Amino acid sequence: MQAFEATSHYFDQAARLLDLSDNVRTLLLTPEREVRVEVVIEMDSGRLGNFLGYRVQHDNSRGPFKGGLRYHPEVDDDESRALASLMTWKTAVVDIPFGGGKGGVNCDPSKLSKAELERLTRRFTEKIHDVIGPVKDIPAPDMGTDDQVMAWIMSEYSKYAGFHPAVVTGKPIELHGSIGRKEATGYGVAIVAREMLATRGRTVGGSTFAIQGFGNVGSFTARFLAKEGAKIVAVSDVHGGLRNPDGIDVEALLRYVAVNRNIVGFEGALPCSNEELLRADVDVLIPAALGGVFDKATAEAVRAKLIVEAANGPTWPEADEVFNARGIPVVPDILANAGGVIVSYFEWVQNLQHFRWPLEQIQGEQEKKQVDAFHDIHELAERKKISMRAAAFYRAIARVGRAHALAGI
Ligand code: NAD
Repeated sequence: MQAFEATSHYFDQAARLLDLSDNVRTLLLTPEREVRVEVVIEMDSGRLGNFLGYRVQHDNSRGPFKGGLRYHPEVDDDESRALASLMTWKTAVVDIPFGGGKGGVNCDPSKLSKAELERLTRRFTEKIHDVIGPVKDIPAPDMGTDDQVMAWIMSEYSKYAGFHPAVVTGKPIELHGSIGRKEATGYGVAIVAREMLATRGRTVGGSTFAIQGFGNVGSFTARFLAKEGAKIVAVSDVHGGLRNPDGIDVEALLRYVAVNRNIVGFEGALPCSNEELLRADVDVLIPAALGGVFDKATAEAVRAKLIVEAANGPTWPEADEVFNARGIPVVPDILANAGGVIVSYFEWVQNLQHFRWPLEQIQGEQEKKQVDAFHDIHELAERKKISMRAAAFYRAIARVGRAHALAGI
């Protein structure tokens, strides 16, 4: 199954509950616009580098398209389409005034020099500059892109449209970025995990966690949970895993990673495989790395009591059925990892206001948005006796559908 089919499957589940007609279903599923561009640059060697860039704009009925740009060898139209649609539902679930978009360039950024990355980014921006903009489509960092890439996009875009920092979010703080954006997704995942545990009479401090992925999202999630007294008993990255039944010292691990670039070899824990991590007997399992982690067999082997999806699209539909049948609650990605886009929204607002908010205001507003959205979806799921994923899609589709209906065709 392809990524877009998986998203459409979840959409269809909720669309049936809402009794949507085929026409409305098609209207809500079909992307508004798909752009594919050829991005040719001169490599440092003097040879030509040929790349393909994508931007899929899924829906803008509730506000400008919003979503990340990936630089990764697997970027293609199918992946961009799936992730653009997920962004539409994510911005609707947490009720921020944006639609959904996604895109990127098919490349391996680890094989490009900084100068090549800059040329690639500027050429890609040149090719898509007329379809992006502060009130049209606002890209952000995603896998393989960072605040530096956003700074180059802002600079290139300004050649066509003048000074418009709100054209991208996730910029460096010194160049109109927002305090609190870097840690926002992990902070939000920790808040959502806390709220989910509270519905079961549990606290973060009294619970054990396993986290797959120790990049931006995984490491900040671990850090915020550990601050609340959580016992992080297993973590992993692409190179390997670590386990310690007494809890891993997250701050010491972060210091280790800052020097060694990966978690392998850290002395405060024993090595473990990614498979062991996914099967760990913990209260909360947090996938925070890749999409498509849980297939049917993996889902059957999971021993965690609940799952909080920090990564985008970690669960294939057949695995979702297994989790539902086994009574393992899953807080879905579009609810759990929305912290990044929430603070991106605050960055956009600050750029439009030409005014900076302090960290306490940003994290306070973020927490309120996430807690409200979590309880809205949790209560809807309980009331309708459906999974939280179905409830999140249900709420999101209803909001987007209503916006279309009010604006008229
Ligand atoms: P990142 O590149 O900073 O980190 C990814 C981590 O996953 C790294 O530690 C990497 O080593 C690890 N990893 C990669 N392959 C793995 C494998 N096979 N097994 C175990 N670990 C592996 O990326 P990120 O920004 O932390 O994003 C992680 C996930 O969260 C992605 O699915 C992304 O789409 C999603 N997400 C990110 C944000 C954000 O604000 N960064 C927002 C929403 C969703």
